Parts: sequence; structure tokens; C-alpha cells
Amino acid sequence: MESQTQPNHQRTIVITGANKGIGFAIIEKLLASANSYNIILTARDPHRGEAAVKKLSATQTQSASTLTYHRLDVNDDKSIQEFIDWLNKDGLKIDVLVNNAGIMHAKASLEQRKQTIQTNYLSLVHLTERLIPLLTDDGKVINISSILGSFAMISPSLKMELEKPNLTEEDLQRLVDNIEKYHQDFTGAFDSSYCASKALLNAWTQWVLPKKLKETQQCYCLAPGWCATDLGGHSAPLTAHDGADTPVYLIELPFKKHADLNAKFIEKRQVIPF
Ligand code: NDP
Repeated sequence: MESQTQPNHQRTIVITGANKGIGFAIIEKLLASANSYNIILTARDPHRGEAAVKKLSATQTQSASTLTYHRLDVNDDKSIQEFIDWLNKDGLKIDVLVNNAGIMHAKASLEQRKQTIQTNYLSLVHLTERLIPLLTDDGKVINISSILGSFAMISPSLKMELEKPNLTEEDLQRLVDNIEKYHQDFTGAFDSSYCASKALLNAWTQWVLPKKLKETQQCYCLAPGWCATDLGGHSAPLTAHDGADTPVYLIELPFKKHADLNAKFIEKRQVIPF
């Protein structure tokens, strides 16, 4: 299928870490939409991924969209390559990449802090860079960040670094290389590198990613709100469905440049400060 030049083709939406939580809820909403999508639910574990597809297919029998599972562990380059090979084999392009997979550890050990930076930031960046060549000319990259990644929530020293305008990839890599320094003086809500990982993601979405995309492609990072999921804890005030609202809103926006939203941080469908 060659989707680049067909204005009304069935859009292909790829969602990472979608076997549960907000990613799963995004797909549930897309399946209920009147629009027809080619949805690719990815998950690192085939049993959990296939079980999710089975559950969604059983409840959304009237959907206009198609739903497929493919394995994707964002931390595993072999898995990323297998996913790319599979897309290429079917000539599939990606219209929307939703980078949703994420982890959080409270009172994290040093190893868990490193894993958090790896999964929530470094692997997301790497996966996106690998998939950009498959993104359609009017494609979108939607990064699921967090209000905990807003610059008000991170250590003052990291905040000072990330607020410098026109940050480059090299600047961000230098911060990652010294991230332990920023863990130590972390003053946010959790004793974890979660806030730093999402703040790095916000800075990358604002300054670096737009330069890697074509003028006609778009990117966003968003805060879904505190939602009751395994990551958010089950006493959170919002549901995963509530958290899926802004991602689905951005997916369903017309495929044209939205200069007011592009490369911005978005919560409840509105631009908020980084
Ligand atoms: P869940 O724990 O319910 O889901 C996280 C998903 O990420 C799971 O499917 C998990 O897979 C997957 N995942 C983790 N590591 C990898 C990996 N290496 N490769 C592929 N998939 C992976 O959390 P949420 O739904 O709450 O979180 C989704 C996103 O929303 C995250 O980025 C999170 O940071 C963000 N967020 C969530 C908030 C909340 O309150 N819930 C608030 C703000 C942001 P598996 O089942 O195999 O572990």
C-alpha cells in the first residue's frame, strides 16, 4: 500500500505499549470512531499484545477500523528492526506514531533510574528516528509525556539547562550522560528519574524533533492527566479513557499543519507551558 499521495486513504496508526492502560484506551476510542483506521497495537510481550487485540476485537465488532498486533519492545533494537521489516514487507507507511510506552518506579534504585531514562526518553528517541523514514508526508508523532515532565517539576539545575532555547541533540545527550547529577538534586514529587525523563522528552519534542521532520509533518507532546493505570496507581482521579482524550483528539485533527499546536506541550486539548 502506498499511502503518501492518497488524501483519503485509511490512516495507519502505530501505538507503543498498547496492551493496557492509556495506550489500550486510545485504541478502544479509535475503534469506536466513525473514521476508518489501520491500527497497529504494539506491545513487547506477544501474549499480552495478542490478548489485548482479542479483547478489543470482541468488544468492537462494528468498528470501521482494522486492528493488528505486532511485537515491539522499544528497548530492543532487534525488535525495532523486525517491526520495520514487517511494515516494509507490506509497503506500509505510518500516518501517526503514538509513543506511549513508559515506565515509572517510585523510590527508584540507580538501575531503575537508568531504565526509566532509557525507556521513556532514549529508546523513544531512537525508535522515532528509526520510524521517521516510514512516516507519511503529513504524518504526526505524538509523544505521551506527563505534567511531571513540566520544567516546574524538575530539579532547578536541570530546569536551567532545559530552558535554554534552541537546545541541540548534543546538549540533550550531555545532560543524559550526566543525569545522575540531576537525580541527586531532584526536588520534585517522586524520588525517581521519571520527571527528568519526561522533561528531556519535552525538550526534545520542542527543539530537536521538528528539525528531523519535514515541514509538512507534525509533532506534539502531551500530558494525559493522572489516570488510574498500573503506572498511575489505581486511586488516580481520572480513567485511562480520560487520559486517551487528548491523544485521540490530536490523532483525529485534520492532517494539516497546526502551527499553534506543533511542537507544543498539550493538556486537555490546550497548549500549556513546558
Ligand atoms: P501502564 O503501566 O498501564 O502501561 C504502560 C505500557 O508501556 C504497558 O503496555 C507496558 O508494557 C509498556 N512498556 C513498558 N516498557 C516497554 C517497552 N520496553 N517496550 C514496549 N512497551 C513497554 O501505564 P499508563 O498507561 O499509565 O502509561 C502510558 C503512558 O502515559 C506512559 O508513557 C506514562 O508515562 C504516561 N503517563 C501516565 C500517567 C498516568 O497517570 N497513568 C500520567 C502521565 C503520563 P507491559 O505491559 O509489557 O509492561
